[in-house]
Amino acid sequence: MGRLLYPEDHPLAQQLKCGVLCRIFPLQDDARAFLFLAFDQPLLAPAVLRSVAQIIAEKLHDAMTELISRERTAVELKNIINQYRILFDRAPVLMNCFDKHNRCTLWNGECERVFGWTLEEVNREADPLALFYPDPEVRQRVRASINTSPSLEMHEWYPQRRDGAVLATLWSNIILSDGEIMNIGVDITERKRAENLLAFQATTDALTRCYNRLAILDHLQTSLDNCQAEDSETHFALVMIDLDHFKKINDQWGHAAGDDALVYFCQCIREQCEGQPRLGRLGGEEFLLLLPVSDPGEAIAFTDRLRAQFFAAPFTMADASLTLSFSAGVLVVCQPHDERAVLLTLVDNALYDAKRTGRGKTIVASLTQ
Ligand code: GH3
Ligand code: MG
Ligand code: MG
Repeated sequence: MGRLLYPEDHPLAQQLKCGVLCRIFPLQDDARAFLFLAFDQPLLAPAVLRSVAQIIAEKLHDAMTELISRERTAVELKNIINQYRILFDRAPVLMNCFDKHNRCTLWNGECERVFGWTLEEVNREADPLALFYPDPEVRQRVRASINTSPSLEMHEWYPQRRDGAVLATLWSNIILSDGEIMNIGVDITERKRAENLLAFQATTDALTRCYNRLAILDHLQTSLDNCQAEDSETHFALVMIDLDHFKKINDQWGHAAGDDALVYFCQCIREQCEGQPRLGRLGGEEFLLLLPVSDPGEAIAFTDRLRAQFFAAPFTMADASLTLSFSAGVLVVCQPHDERAVLLTLVDNALYDAKRTGRGKTIVASLTQ
């Protein structure tokens, strides 16, 4: 005999006269159930009551099946929500959501880790976006960029983090069904830094920190492309410089002193130029300077000033000092020219003439030679 579970202590439980036991078809593979209808009267029409019991059992079966399936779905949903929550919090991707009133509604773990603010701290600001973009104009541009869903391309932005450091980030966005904006971003600060370093190394001479041969020749090409005959602002002079008797410095004071002399030489050129000079090392102790002048006289005056500087402030080593001497060839470009090699040969010839005729001087080449 089974045990009556409910209501266990009901007075009628003692008065039961007959009952109908009916099986509820299996709900799950390993669970079976029975329906027992109990009566306090002797049964008059057993067939009718059996049918009634069966109908109730079927209804019960359906209701229980639905309840069980709902419960299963709820458990599955809970698992999915949990998985998404973990994904949202731990994914190495920036994810946040802002509503129509600029309130931040979602702020994932990566956002907190990268920017340093919690969701509560972000929402303490009247305009949370101002934390990342203090400049109102930039803020406006950031907002204006969020007008498609999903955004067709990633936009590069430079938000500020809590300690004031500026990050490089890439962002895309999705406008959700309720109008909220989900921003999805990646922090590319480190990658950008590495790229910039590589670009710098690819264009810079490691010893003197001026442009390397490839980069200065690229600058020359760009300057030639931009040169306009009628605009003196775009005119420039090619100044090719070679240090005189440089080998002697190496021979007399050693290679390290020679290196220092090259660094010193470039430093002096920087001091003579306004702003960042377009100075490149063609090789060894030979340099090319693109000087923004439209007259050969100005270029000669420049090299004279440089010589005067070497004279006034000689290059000093541990126990000696030395006035550096150089020869130079100059060529002023006043009109578009697409033969870079021709110009370089002309200015190289002028430099050679300066060497040949005594060194320590500047010779002007001309395009009509
Ligand atoms: P000139 O007046 O005819 O130009 O004579 P020079 O001695 O300057 O020219 P040369 O071409 O005979 O010698 C150049 C020397 O520059 C030889 C080479 O060892 C030296 N040199 C080239 N690159 C470097 C460098 O990076 N560091 C040092 N210390 N020396 C270098
Ligand atoms: Mg030399
Ligand atoms: Mg040389």
